[in-house]
Amino acid sequence: MKQEMTVKVNDKFKAAYAAGYPLIEKEALMDTQMLKEEGALLRLTDAQGRFLARGYYGKQNKGLGWIWTRNEEESIDQAFMERKLAKSINRRQPYFDDPATTAFRVVNGEGDGFGGLTIDYYAGYYLLSWYSEGIYTFKADIIAALQNVVEFKGIYEKKRFDTKGQYIEDDDFVAGERGEFPLIVKENGMNYAIYLNDGAMTGIFLDQRDVRRTIRDTYAKGKTVLNTFSYTGAFSVAAALGGAAKTTSVDLAKRSSSKTIEQFSVNGIDYEQQDILVMDVFNYFKYAKRKELKFDMVILDPPSFARSKKYTFSTSKDYTNLMREAIAITEKNGIIVASTNSASFGMKKFKGFIDKAFKEEGKKYSIVEEFTLPADFRVQKEFKEGDYLKVLFLKLK
Ligand code: SAH
Repeated sequence: MKQEMTVKVNDKFKAAYAAGYPLIEKEALMDTQMLKEEGALLRLTDAQGRFLARGYYGKQNKGLGWIWTRNEEESIDQAFMERKLAKSINRRQPYFDDPATTAFRVVNGEGDGFGGLTIDYYAGYYLLSWYSEGIYTFKADIIAALQNVVEFKGIYEKKRFDTKGQYIEDDDFVAGERGEFPLIVKENGMNYAIYLNDGAMTGIFLDQRDVRRTIRDTYAKGKTVLNTFSYTGAFSVAAALGGAAKTTSVDLAKRSSSKTIEQFSVNGIDYEQQDILVMDVFNYFKYAKRKELKFDMVILDPPSFARSKKYTFSTSKDYTNLMREAIAITEKNGIIVASTNSASFGMKKFKGFIDKAFKEEGKKYSIVEEFTLPADFRVQKEFKEGDYLKVLFLKLK
């Protein structure tokens, strides 16, 4: 049994927890001194000691932990995890039923009442990502519950915490049978090669599914496409399958080249007809300007923060400049796909960065598509901040 501690919530936050706010924030607690043991159960009460909610202590950059339940009678055990998991899995039934898509999210952290944990499904395999030491202390109950709730080939995990919040290298295998990697998953009929045993990332970001489909189905045909920060080239594959005249993928990481070749190959696309460049995007922009290259479509999906030998990029400071570079090499009537996964600002501010860039370049545009997280990346209405994804398709006039 886990120990449980009572912590009092400031009056200002009382109503929020009573209404279902899921994050335990430092500012909300009257005293945080007793918070030492990661995973400890916390009984949140108002100043008078009246029960509000039960959660756990697990430090992340977002806060001090997450709420499990607002029902005082409910104990946090394997049966609790089973009820909650079954509910999350049931909500994804339409995805399980669709043979054209075999990779999707089944538990999206606090959006499914599991703050600090995500679970993704990859063609028979389940991948758990733990975001704090605290949530990891619930592992035995959660894994046992999962094994009772779903059929699976194998279960893998990623520990996405250490004192610096980074990925911990470890054997990622948990239960069932080990997979053979790459595992080929389907997404709206496209193939993607993924790895559950090779670092923090799997090779594809599932939250961009709708964006990839839209590129393929609506915007790629006959177009020249530049995919910057291309990683394994997932957007390039979608564009090529949509009939793009040619794709150019640019990423700084050395392994991005072989990974992109692999993604093209598992889709039967001749990668030699595509350009795959290992270089700094900012150098590529300079090169493209010098050569007077222009593209019909430019995709921008930078990490929230990146440092290369020459440049430091932080989305909130530098998106406008990045956009200006993209605008300069996009054809008239062309499309820019502007994406960010930065949780530190919302859609309104993002649109502001973009608008500023167009004004500074003296160009006009319209927004033709707008995306946030897809339905499997469930967001709780009391915690809209959980929807970090922002993607806009912009048409140059
Ligand atoms: N758009 C991709 C995901 C991008 S992840 C997709 O949808 O799959 C961010 C990528 O940016 C990483 O692969 C990283 O290597 C790359 N990156 C970071 N800084 C870069 C830079 N200055 N130039 C080129 N690539 C960079």
